[in-house]
Amino acid sequence: MALHLILMGPPQAGKGTQARYLATRFGLVHVATGDLLREVSQEDSALGRRVGDLLRLGEYVPDALVTQMVVDRMDDHDILLDGYPRTVAQAETLERLAIPIHGVFVLDVPEDELIDRAQERLFCPNCNAVYGSRTNPPREPCICDVCGHGLAHRLDDAPATVHRRLEVYRQRSEPVVSYYETRGLVRRIDGSGPVAQVSAALERATAQLFQRQGRVAAETV
Ligand SMILES: [Zn+2]
Repeated sequence: MALHLILMGPPQAGKGTQARYLATRFGLVHVATGDLLREVSQEDSALGRRVGDLLRLGEYVPDALVTQMVVDRMDDHDILLDGYPRTVAQAETLERLAIPIHGVFVLDVPEDELIDRAQERLFCPNCNAVYGSRTNPPREPCICDVCGHGLAHRLDDAPATVHRRLEVYRQRSEPVVSYYETRGLVRRIDGSGPVAQVSAALERATAQLFQRQGRVAAETV
């Protein structure tokens, strides 16, 4: 049986980085709904055109449509879902479609730390490269490695904005986490340490789930 995992975490928790790492390490298909929508919108099909129109207009892509796209991708692969399910309704849909979920990893990072990370973040207004003063500092202070332009802070990294974003995340994700908690699927992962340490914790948790299925995790790295 294919392994179906979900990775959740607040904005700036490093979810994207960890998802890519896990996908490479275990040969999982990484289904990130944001990327998926953009990809589908490029396809020359009725669905592609419809999604493209919705994205261009900045409109909400209906739940049923997103679910259909995610499920189409799942097939028989080992999957890491990222950004889905976003709502309890979507989680229920997966269950109704008899698509099992085997583990839900929730990255826990204290709000103070997320605010600090946002404060430390610099971006290049010219080429959009992103730097963190602790995690990946530019070679020269405040100068873009890629294009040499001066670096700046993003307005939406201001503490009040980060706080608001976290509130939205909590309101939206907590019901989904509870849904999977009652099914005994949630593994909380401390996301506050260095990237490599968080990766190692996720790696152990994933390997355990493979073992539970009587499978040995693929050695892809
Ligand atoms: Zn640049």
